[in-house]
Amino acid sequence: MRILAGRVADARGVRERVVVHIEAGRITALETWNAHTRPQPNDIEAEEALLVPGFIDIHIHGGAGHYIMEGTEEALQAVAVHLARHGVTGFLSTTITAPWEEQRQALTIAAKALHSPENGTTGARVLGCHLEGPYINPKKKGAQPEAAIRPPSITELEREAGEHLSAIKVVTLAPEMPGALDLIRYLVQHDIITSIGHTDATYADMTLAINAGARHVTHCFNAMRPLESREPGVVGATMSHPELMAELIWDNHHVHPASCHALISAKGCDKVILISDGIPGTSMPEGYSFSLGDLPVVVKAGTARLPDGTLAGSLLTLDTAFQNASVFSLAERASMSSRNAALSLGLGNSKGLIAPGFDADLVLLQSNGTVSQTFVAGHSVYNI
Ligand SMILES: [Zn+2]
Repeated sequence: MRILAGRVADARGVRERVVVHIEAGRITALETWNAHTRPQPNDIEAEEALLVPGFIDIHIHGGAGHYIMEGTEEALQAVAVHLARHGVTGFLSTTITAPWEEQRQALTIAAKALHSPENGTTGARVLGCHLEGPYINPKKKGAQPEAAIRPPSITELEREAGEHLSAIKVVTLAPEMPGALDLIRYLVQHDIITSIGHTDATYADMTLAINAGARHVTHCFNAMRPLESREPGVVGATMSHPELMAELIWDNHHVHPASCHALISAKGCDKVILISDGIPGTSMPEGYSFSLGDLPVVVKAGTARLPDGTLAGSLLTLDTAFQNASVFSLAERASMSSRNAALSLGLGNSKGLIAPGFDADLVLLQSNGTVSQTFVAGHSVYNI
């Protein structure tokens, strides 16, 4: 199969008129699309479109009325299909703070998909799990249910995750809670990323966490100690420490666009990952309601909120985040929407670039930013 694209952009730059050859799920060659290019029967011609690496969402709880915490194959499948419609080709199935039996169920379903040959979904592929909690700080719980928050514990995590520990790629935790630093060191040993989030950590706490091996920051600016003159907090530590990769919800509701700009200017485009933090209300009509744990959430004016007005996850999808960040170049946005996540997850040799040898995880975007077609391992999984 070949895709003939008007423009191709990845983290390395932009090329005009490119023929992308795909065989057995991988990109095999790139060549210039010129007058000598002869049409072939299976060609996908997209002269007006932009081809970018499939988006990778490392923080996503649900969408289109479905929720990872339902803990069923059907829900995971529905979320995977929803994501593919928005150009996502890989994601971390993300739990929220909940009783362990519920988190374990969601983890089990995601681990099964991760290890099955065809990935168990017909949309975006499960690349692993992200546990958002339960080891967070109640003071910065945001929309995470407080009753299920737990003190950090290696033995508990080992017991509850059991054989599925290796499916966990990211754990969001608050490093200032007693026992958290030991847990961070344990996660490092098991090749699991610690993402600092839902946290009241001071700059000093952050330094200890980084020294212990923490490398990500969960939805930077949201549910964390802010940057102040004499106390840089979590945000100041994120901006000033190049070891840290920052998640960012660029939906223009959670973070002011100027703050998004400030973060990216401080860290560089290779140290920020656009996430959705999407919840079941995404792509659902105004007034749609559902519950996060015991907490009722309503979709209202482009946001999802608890009755007290607290933002409860987002209605963002990464195609929109890619558009919202358009003050940055295509290459910079391709870094933040795909390449950085691939590198963080240890998939830097197979995902996040449009280059020979890489997985054919690709998305065609129209000039207005709408996704027209999504490919996972060379298969069309969504076509407008
Ligand atoms: Zn979340």
